Amino acid sequence: MTVTEHPPTPLAGGPDLPQERRVVTEVPGPRSRELHARRGAAVAAGVGSVLPVYVAAAGGGVVVDVDGNSFIDLGSGIGVTGVGNATPHVVDRVRAQAAAFTHTCFMVAPYEGYVEVCEALAQVTPGDHAKKSALFNSGAEAVENAVKIARVASGRDAVVVFDHAYHGRTNLTMAMTAKSMPYKHGFGPFAGEVYRAPMSYPFREPAPLSGAEAALRATSMIDKTVGADQVACVVIEPVQGEGGFVVPAAGFLPALASWCRDNDVLLVADEIQSGFCRTGDWFACDHEGVVPDLVTTAKGIAGGMPLAAVTGRAEVMDAVHPGGLGGTYGGNPVACAAALGAIETMRTLDLPGAARRLGAVMLSRLGALAEQVPAIGDVRGRGAMVAIELVRPGSTEPDAALAAAVSAACHAAGVLTLTCGTYGNVLRLLPPLVLSEALLSEALDVLADALTAAAGAGPRAP
Ligand SMILES: *Cc1c(COP(=O)(O)O)cnc(C)c1O
Repeated sequence: MTVTEHPPTPLAGGPDLPQERRVVTEVPGPRSRELHARRGAAVAAGVGSVLPVYVAAAGGGVVVDVDGNSFIDLGSGIGVTGVGNATPHVVDRVRAQAAAFTHTCFMVAPYEGYVEVCEALAQVTPGDHAKKSALFNSGAEAVENAVKIARVASGRDAVVVFDHAYHGRTNLTMAMTAKSMPYKHGFGPFAGEVYRAPMSYPFREPAPLSGAEAALRATSMIDKTVGADQVACVVIEPVQGEGGFVVPAAGFLPALASWCRDNDVLLVADEIQSGFCRTGDWFACDHEGVVPDLVTTAKGIAGGMPLAAVTGRAEVMDAVHPGGLGGTYGGNPVACAAALGAIETMRTLDLPGAARRLGAVMLSRLGALAEQVPAIGDVRGRGAMVAIELVRPGSTEPDAALAAAVSAACHAAGVLTLTCGTYGNVLRLLPPLVLSEALLSEALDVLADALTAAAGAGPRAP
């Protein structure tokens, strides 16, 4: 079989790719199935794929596979390509940097791009205090380093995290992540001195609880079972990602921040999924004016190139001895070039505004759908980070099978959706922020049809 027997696929991605939903084969198609069989023999089974169509090109709001199918992207590679895939400012800078030099190691011989990224991070992250940054390769690595910095700066050991938290897959971050299967199962023993506090999860509170009350529930637990004077840092996702796009009740984060201040505990905002315009502000903390001591970023930072950062109060960051932070590839020059191009794109296209517009469309459409589909227990989110929590009608009992069925139906119809949540029952929508409203609306039509077909319409349970 030769390549010419297959439908032609575009070689160049980026925003010039036709912005359309197009399904021309079954999903996955024959070429993807061929590649999947090859993969089966060569790639470790522990590495999964949500939708095993093999990608030929992507850009704007679509992902095109090797069979010529074009999917409307509601996942952004897990919140990474907010600026769009293969977006021009990123591609141009990456190309120029790769042609100049690809690596020297910042710890061996430094370069301007790293410094420029740290300067940009100081500008865009919450708060107008003096800030410094250190760059890494992955979100998990950033979280690990935030804990290292907090421990040295405070002279304390304990780390407090929350129910439903996701912080990564390395040993320390597995300990910080809540969900066992698949992230932790069989991989222990885990790092010590990690304590879990109750999260504010409005949909799942047995009785309505204000943000301040939920914060008090968490901090009194910390006071009693850990001891505030033992705590180096509280690490929290201001809007949770993998755990279910949980948006805490208003006032929860400010109350937590003020408890941290009163007890000399460092507040670390893990904005790896919620940061860089996703929630309609530059960072999710901005929504309530919360200023964390340290912020971890990754995913959306560099338009798809691997880069992560810890940004924090200059005096906290500088508590670490020289040579204590680093890594061979951290702040790679090509990844830094991509980040500068991505941040330029966020500014020139006003992506916080775009996220708010996309979010308003999603919340109003899905809110209306919830009136017709009793299996929709909750519609929530902020900006272009929106979730539908699916339950058995009339209860809060999670329905993971329904979430999987709806997601599969969307895939078959040319819409790339993701699920999440501790109970696996949450459909999460996090489109590229450059997705057109027309394409978003078409994707929501597909989603609504899939949901109605799988769950059945009916009067909403009281
Ligand atoms: C994805 C994610 C991480 C881990 O990032 P990796 O780059 O996959 O290591 C950490 N925290 C949050 C909130 C995330 O969404």
